Amino acid sequence: MQPQNITILGATGSIGTSTLDVISRNAEQYKVFAVSGYSQIEKLVEIACQFSPEYIVTADKSLASKLFQALPDSHKHSCQIKFGVEGLEFIASHPKTDTVMAAIVGAAGLKPIMSAIRASKRILLANKESLVMSGELFMRAVKQHNATLIPVDSEHNAIFQCLPDDYCYGDKASSGISHLLLTASGGPFRTMPINLLDDVSPEQACAHPNWDMGKKISVDSASMMNKGLEFIEARWLFGLNAENIKVVVHPQSTIHSMVQYVDGSVIAQMGNPDMRTPIAHALGYPKRVTSGVKALDFFNLTDFSFEAACPKRFPNLFLAMQACEKGQAATTALNAANEIAVDAFLNEQIRFTDIYKLNRIVVEHFSEQALADISQVIQHDLLCREYAAYKVQELSD
Ligand code: NAD
Ligand code: MG
Repeated sequence: MQPQNITILGATGSIGTSTLDVISRNAEQYKVFAVSGYSQIEKLVEIACQFSPEYIVTADKSLASKLFQALPDSHKHSCQIKFGVEGLEFIASHPKTDTVMAAIVGAAGLKPIMSAIRASKRILLANKESLVMSGELFMRAVKQHNATLIPVDSEHNAIFQCLPDDYCYGDKASSGISHLLLTASGGPFRTMPINLLDDVSPEQACAHPNWDMGKKISVDSASMMNKGLEFIEARWLFGLNAENIKVVVHPQSTIHSMVQYVDGSVIAQMGNPDMRTPIAHALGYPKRVTSGVKALDFFNLTDFSFEAACPKRFPNLFLAMQACEKGQAATTALNAANEIAVDAFLNEQIRFTDIYKLNRIVVEHFSEQALADISQVIQHDLLCREYAAYKVQELSD
């Protein structure tokens, strides 16, 4: 059988690297057709040498020419280099692309993912921000273009595995679902005295106890905005109402999420916390492929505990739940504000606890607009970013 052609958007990041690792373990089944990376030229050269993709996409023209110079002669002509959003859209929708791994971080992922959707591709979705930004429009486009969407985010991939095989989007009643349980680790600040949160550093926020991830999602995990984004993501991926989704803190990250049924059964997906498991599941679905992840050792599991999320410690989670109730403009605003806030925190312009303040202010100001199509979503996103950046200046003065 011909190997499947995989395009990896965000191949130089944490999810991208894990995807390449899983592909290298299953080389007869998958071929890396195209990759993108923003500015990490060295990593792109390594990927080119190991996987020989037909296309590589960088952020802009000058990085593209830097990449060309850095490629060994043997790869200079076997691989085409493109750049910018057009380059990303080109590889995401290329006729030879079978499957797109969507692993760019943040709103920058939306346009190329929409191109993949319009080209009816099989999309493995790690980039949750695109769905939070454009929920109903995104899911409508998937349906309209008969694209296939498989969740990679570990919680959503777990839920996908725990749902009945014939689960019909949004049909909670005939599937016998009571509710979804999204698990959360609680991140690095779960037990820190709340009054110390004002002064935590970016390094502390990025030091996640269980998962090794990119910086933005690490900060989101520390503030629990990540679980908030995932709450909204679950609402759209599975077509359920907010009241059918609960969050439970499970510090060991052994259960990756659960589905509770009306007969009292709870189905959970478990494993060691390593993103190669959901990536391998999404790549192989409906078959299973090896991932390189160690088997879970039940004889050496120590604690196995659960608790509720504290609203005082994790106000971002509850803000996201409220935004989900308010609707599309509010979740687009929340995502935009959070990207600006996390960036400002990582650059030490604002405090960790300012992330919530900024997010709340922007959501309060930009929740009412009607967003009829993706271009309006993008406009709204830009407006919210401008306002958030202006508020960062105020907070950092
Ligand atoms: P990362 O920061 O490690 O990698 C991000 C990738 O996106 C890199 O390849 C980078 O070059 C590219 N990129 C960054 N800005 C870009 C831009 N403006 N235009 C084009 N490309 C750009 O991030 P990550 O941790 O791999 O996360 C990627 C996505 O997957 C995020 O949406 C995150 O929420 C989601 N996710 C990550 C994990 C994880 O364990 N890392 C788990 C679940 C979901
Ligand atoms: Mg997750």
